[in-house]
Amino acid sequence: MSATRCCRCGRPTEARVAVGWRDTGSNSGTTVYACPDCALKIDPGPSPEDTQSATDPR
Ligand SMILES: [Zn+2]
Repeated sequence: MSATRCCRCGRPTEARVAVGWRDTGSNSGTTVYACPDCALKIDPGPSPEDTQSATDPR
């Protein structure tokens, strides 16, 4: 498996972290990955799970 590029700094990382989810309009969307460093700085993006939990009054 090849390295995934970080969506923030653009550098390839083998320790990718899923930081969000993007609806591409085709297929079922694309998961956005970032390197561990950037993952700490990126706000969690919208995802199917987040959308559901957002409506949960907690
Ligand atoms: Zn990065």
